[in-house]
Amino acid sequence: MQDHTHLASRRSFVASANGHPDFPIQNLPLGIFALHDGTGRAGVAIGDMILDLDAVLAAGLLDGAAEEAAAAAEGGVLNELLALGGGPRRALRLRLFDLLSEDSTERARLAGMLHRAADCTLHLPARIGDYTDFYAGIQHATNVGALFRPDNPLLPNYKYVPIGYHGRASSVVPSGHPVRRPNGQRKPATETTPSFGPSRNLDYELELGLWIGPGNALGEPIPIAQATEHIAGFCLLNDWSARDIQGWEYQPLGPFLAKNFCSTVSPWVITPEAMAPFRRAQAKRPEGDPKPMDYLWDERDQAHGALELELEVFLLTPGLREKGLPPHRLSRGHASGLYWTPAQLVAHHACGGCNLQPGDLLGTGTISSASEDGFGSLLEITRGGKQPVTLASGETRRFLEDGDEIVLQARARRAGFAGIGFGECRGVVTPAP
Ligand code: CA
Repeated sequence: MQDHTHLASRRSFVASANGHPDFPIQNLPLGIFALHDGTGRAGVAIGDMILDLDAVLAAGLLDGAAEEAAAAAEGGVLNELLALGGGPRRALRLRLFDLLSEDSTERARLAGMLHRAADCTLHLPARIGDYTDFYAGIQHATNVGALFRPDNPLLPNYKYVPIGYHGRASSVVPSGHPVRRPNGQRKPATETTPSFGPSRNLDYELELGLWIGPGNALGEPIPIAQATEHIAGFCLLNDWSARDIQGWEYQPLGPFLAKNFCSTVSPWVITPEAMAPFRRAQAKRPEGDPKPMDYLWDERDQAHGALELELEVFLLTPGLREKGLPPHRLSRGHASGLYWTPAQLVAHHACGGCNLQPGDLLGTGTISSASEDGFGSLLEITRGGKQPVTLASGETRRFLEDGDEIVLQARARRAGFAGIGFGECRGVVTPAP
């Protein structure tokens, strides 16, 4: 649903917001930030600034459902706010939009509640009870499958069931947190027995994350037509992956230590309201693909449930840094590479009665485009490490080295609307312990 908060002509009195690639007044993402004392407070990103939502509440600038929403965001985590669902969240957006508008009558009072984002630390927005990672990027699944089964890359279940596994919530970190190279069991084909040591094939995965809102009671599925109401926001997700550990351990139960040492999220919750102008029809399935089963099929979701998002991945290495060279763009792709919509992932997760809870995190799975300049992992870009990437510094990369930094970006663009972005999702690889 679109309203005046989506009009491209609207501007903020916060000058840096106007034309900001990520956080113009049309975005207003929610998060948890800290000033010097380190205590987490609810905030809203606006240009290069963060508006202290706790302070706005304390100043009595909110009432009704907007006040209810901000009160639920007190305490350094957004779980209770996410649990409220769309109504209070929309009310808060409308009020914040007025408060931050160019013609705001509260401009003077808000001045002391705005902090330079550069002076703040961003925390995880929610206490994550559970984290699940799907495998909905069909091009990624095809590319990876082809490394092992060139003639038959997709397994027979892929087009029927949204594939996923239960990940590890405790090791999800916000952007900027270092990523320590994991130790684990590795057994390359060239060695006869496994050995224990630092991963030699450390990789990233470009994904989107979904923040769960109200959720469902145990035993009560979420119908597909209601699934969207349970998505409280979106983020970027880097599912760091140790390919050598993965290759040895994954059969028969799937990923374990290869994926659970660290996952990085962009810390701002991009609301469904901010994304309203950037919804699109789900890509039509190729001729011959099965129609999704009824519990996954909703006409409205098919017409509007996918996301209009451009996705980019950058690599910054010690060599590039030393020579003052810009980050190397590893890929530029699009979220249309997802075979299932966010609502389908939610409905599928809950179809057997599993209860999703406010602040749970779902990953879409790695998103790759059909063309190789849009591949979402080094595993695909370097063909399993066989075709290294050469950088402007003269360095080459099969997989990530210590000191390398990966930066994910997502930008929503549509003619006639102010574009918005997700903010950065970055992490530097540090040596194994
Ligand atoms: Ca993944």
